[in-house]
Amino acid sequence: MAATILDGKALGARIDERTAQRVTTFVDEHGRRPCLTVVLVGEDPASQVYVRNKIRRCGQTGIESREHRLGVDVGEDELLRLIRALNHADDVDGILVQLPLPDHIDAALVLEAIAAEKDVDGFHPDNAGRLASGMPRFVPCTPRGAMHLIHEVHENLQGLHAVVVGRSTIVGRPMAQLLLMADATVTIAHSKTKDLTSTCLDADILIAAVGRPKIISGGMVKPGATVIDVGINRIDDGGKGRLVGDVDYDQVMGHAGAITPVPGGVGPMTIACLLENTVDAAIMRMA
Ligand code: NDP
Repeated sequence: MAATILDGKALGARIDERTAQRVTTFVDEHGRRPCLTVVLVGEDPASQVYVRNKIRRCGQTGIESREHRLGVDVGEDELLRLIRALNHADDVDGILVQLPLPDHIDAALVLEAIAAEKDVDGFHPDNAGRLASGMPRFVPCTPRGAMHLIHEVHENLQGLHAVVVGRSTIVGRPMAQLLLMADATVTIAHSKTKDLTSTCLDADILIAAVGRPKIISGGMVKPGATVIDVGINRIDDGGKGRLVGDVDYDQVMGHAGAITPVPGGVGPMTIACLLENTVDAAIMRMA
């Protein structure tokens, strides 16, 4: 039987509606809109699309957005100066530095320079540490969005085995922390995992966050499992660029109980959660 398709666009739109209501309440109480500032360095085409989508969705929910575009040659010092200024700006609630940054800039240093209470991406070590300690403040948007999708299928994760393929600080690790907090039994697999197929086959919930097209095949998925595909890979499909995930969608469709498409799955949820985090930041700062 074909799997249920988990529609991130539709769920993201429902979350955005709730966010828009929270924005209205915030404006009534504080006389200003929550404000997200996005910093984009260089001309990376994918980053430009992501930033454009984030700004558009801010507008749709009533969040004020500001954009700082810096040239690809900008010095690390200049970028750090801008972040410090944004940290001190009273009317800025959330700061997001679009990744990746050019090679001459130390991304870890830049992310750590963002005030933790404005770190709506949740990448600051303070926020990562809080999540790892079970006291989350800002949770990285992609895993937060993936959890919303998982909860569409599983109200309660107790007794379920979740396998996360990928251990990046942006997706894999925070994903595993969230699943653990939700009482799943969690395995993290990565490039040094010995037998990825048997590890994945044991998963009731399988999350792929690798960055390799179709690395998860039908034979790696337990019948009825929930499969969340975080991967976004651009492939050359007969000369036409196309986005695919880490999961072989057509194959896995016949094995999984539920599956996220790419595009239209985790991607739109990531932005919905960024907007949620921005309103959370604004409310926390005014408390
Ligand atoms: P990283 O490159 O930082 O991490 C990839 C992880 O996959 C690493 O932990 C790596 O292991 C592991 N890995 C690589 N090859 C294998 C393999 N053959 N078998 C098992 N594990 C492997 O990527 P990100 O976490 O930043 O992103 C992952 C994917 O998610 C990308 O496609 C990215 O574009 C996408 N993404 C999507 C978002 C969205 O909004 N939908 C947001 C963010 C990312 P090791 O640690 O051992 O090297």
